[in-house]
Amino acid sequence: MTVRGRLVLYVGPMFAGKSAHLIAAAKRQTDVLALKPGFDTRDGSELVSRDGSHLAAVSANAWPEDADRYSHIVLDEGQFWVAPHYHGDIVEDIRAARARGADVTVGGLDTDYRRVPFDVMTRLMDEADEVIALTARCHVCGAPAAWTAKTHETGHLLETGDQELYEARCDAHWTLPDRP
Ligand SMILES: [Zn+2]
Repeated sequence: MTVRGRLVLYVGPMFAGKSAHLIAAAKRQTDVLALKPGFDTRDGSELVSRDGSHLAAVSANAWPEDADRYSHIVLDEGQFWVAPHYHGDIVEDIRAARARGADVTVGGLDTDYRRVPFDVMTRLMDEADEVIALTARCHVCGAPAAWTAKTHETGHLLETGDQELYEARCDAHWTLPDRP
């Protein structure tokens, strides 16, 4: 009988080091498939963290057919693995991979810039063996920051960006973006 694989999540706001933790976790494994969302064209076929670590990754908009061959699957930007970007139900796909014995590690934002939970991440957290909540540093005061704030409203909920668009904020300094 196959032992069900573990699901470990790294969650938190932007700039919390989620990708760095994910890459470090992947590098502790020998037989690992790293996945990034197909529409996220930043950094080509690599996961890249802000501290400079990187890892070869496959861009996917559906569960890869050859994923069965790996004993560990790492998936970045978990909040983006939803329709219309992803074809299928990532929660079901991860469940099936774990049933085959694969360990799965996912990094992602637990909430969006409005502090509304990403449903897909909530569903994954419900089934995870371990959830590691990371914090960033507040852009205003330097205190631990659990929230992502958007510097200006663009009208898009799922949008990649960096410091030109997002900042980490503590509870006291988080705000909604100004209307354009
Ligand atoms: Zn603050």
